[in-house]
Amino acid sequence: MVGGLLKQALAAILPGTSLVRLPAAGSSGVALTFDDGPHDRFTPQILDLLDAAGAVASFFVVGSAAKQRPALIREIDARGHQVANHGYRHLNARKVNVDEYVADVARAQELLEDILGHRLERDFRPPYGIITPAAYLALWRKGFRQVYWSVDSLDHSLTDPRAIIDRVDRLTGPGDVVLMHDDYEHTPLALQGVLDRLKQRRLDLRSVSSR
Ligand SMILES: [Zn+2]
Repeated sequence: MVGGLLKQALAAILPGTSLVRLPAAGSSGVALTFDDGPHDRFTPQILDLLDAAGAVASFFVVGSAAKQRPALIREIDARGHQVANHGYRHLNARKVNVDEYVADVARAQELLEDILGHRLERDFRPPYGIITPAAYLALWRKGFRQVYWSVDSLDHSLTDPRAIIDRVDRLTGPGDVVLMHDDYEHTPLALQGVLDRLKQRRLDLRSVSSR
């Protein structure tokens, strides 16, 4: 992961400000997370597969996409999943100044809470998994927890559903946070197999914020 050492150091100094794996050690929980949506076709497919499997997940949505599809944001929430923040413009923290970066995250949070009419956990996943020390501290001061992942499904580069299923099954165990995306056609195709495998192993599929 990019900047892993920096994040580890800041996470050690400021406990609870970022998450890579689920905190409850020893539980059977696994969090499936979907980034970069909502997508008109693939997000509803993913919701149907999750619901049929009795699984709950986290959706790290992009504000500009959410603004175009408020009904889909409300549907994710109404079906019991976590709507979470992936920034408004999907910025790279290294390419803009810290004020612009943090304002973009706050803008996405306001939009999502406006659409839903209720407060959300301040869970933010930095686009590309990239953060700077200044942005890390500024987000912490605004009460945001940064949510990373411990298993990358590689659905951004693997397009064969079987390869994604095998990879996630092989790498995922209790406490893992799995990165997937809801803007690729092959991810819903892989998801059924992922759900089958993880459920066979009696893993409890939950969101990052489930308690
Ligand atoms: Zn992203």
